[in-house]
Amino acid sequence: MKTILVTGGTGFLGSNLCERLICEGNAVVCVDNNYTGRVKNIESLLGNPNFRFVEHDVIEPFDPGCRVEQIYNLACPASPPFYQGKASVMTTKTCVLGALNMLELAREHGATILQASTSEVYGEPRVHPQVETYRGNVNPIGIRACYDEGKRCAESLFFDYHRQEGVDIKVIRIFNTYGPRMNPADGRVVSNLICQALRGEDLTLYGDGSQTRSFCYVDDLIEAMMRMMASRQGFTGPVNTGNPGEFTIRELAEKVLARVPHGSKLVYRELPLDDPTQRRPDISLAQRELGWSPRIQLDEGLDRTIAYFRGEIASA
Ligand code: NAD
Ligand code: UDP
Repeated sequence: MKTILVTGGTGFLGSNLCERLICEGNAVVCVDNNYTGRVKNIESLLGNPNFRFVEHDVIEPFDPGCRVEQIYNLACPASPPFYQGKASVMTTKTCVLGALNMLELAREHGATILQASTSEVYGEPRVHPQVETYRGNVNPIGIRACYDEGKRCAESLFFDYHRQEGVDIKVIRIFNTYGPRMNPADGRVVSNLICQALRGEDLTLYGDGSQTRSFCYVDDLIEAMMRMMASRQGFTGPVNTGNPGEFTIRELAEKVLARVPHGSKLVYRELPLDDPTQRRPDISLAQRELGWSPRIQLDEGLDRTIAYFRGEIASA
């Protein structure tokens, strides 16, 4: 049995990861300040003797009170409305100081540490699909920079701790991932469109809806994370993890409308500043090194996610 620390463990990805790690017989210490996470997401694990939840802000150093062998560093708001504006300085602090605190812990414990980095490190990409060697095109003073540059700085800290301190690091760059345990109020596109359709509201498209994203179902992503943690000694990444199927936001909305026929229509809203135009991962490295490819395509993933949100909305 391994003892594994998961930061951001009450969030969407973190709670799915905690459940999978517990199912596979590990002991899990879940750390979160519940900024965007919900204790509800880990409720089924709270009575498990191998699971411990600690409310803590990763901006401050953390003492797990026991030896940990692995750390998954996921703590960070991931939805633009929750990482920008009044939250922007906190977001940068979470990315940078959170990474620093967890890297120190990994060094002290001799633990392997995985960083949940992001496709946002590529900014508005000029290379398509995005390969890991592409260095990106981020506006360093824009409204997304607190997140994009925060995550880029975290990657730089990870590689410096690896080179200077010999810490065993694993870095994945996650592309848009969706599925059960997302908060209906999260603000990202999949949850917004599905919840709007289920409530009979109009579906909000920012800009003309022609921008593209590649959507990965959560179970596939968790599998990639765990394979990365178990990857060969010395393999650090960064590795793109995502589903290479690429859709315009309008296509996504039409898929949702076709599944939830409540008479909603599409309405167009202003495109936020620096919103990337096009995004799709090249996953050849993940295929080669991790033997991983996503299995659940968008149609099936949407069916599962709609069923989840139906339950959330009914019980609200
Ligand atoms: P989420 O908002 O549901 O989860 C983030 C969690 O981190 C929340 O539980 C939140 O309360 C917690 N958190 C935030 N700041 C914290 C702090 N200072 N201290 C302790 N906990 C804190 O988002 P998610 O989609 O589950 O994202 C998880 C991680 O994966 C994030 O690091 C995100 O950047 C990364 N990521 C996610 C996606 C995606 O599409 N889901 C894509 C790229 C990267
Ligand atoms: N978006 C949209 N309607 C919404 C929410 C988001 O059209 O209600 C757009 C957003 O402008 C972006 C895309 O959908 O172009 C994905 O947005 P999300 O916030 O999910 O992720 P990110 O922009 O971080 O990739």
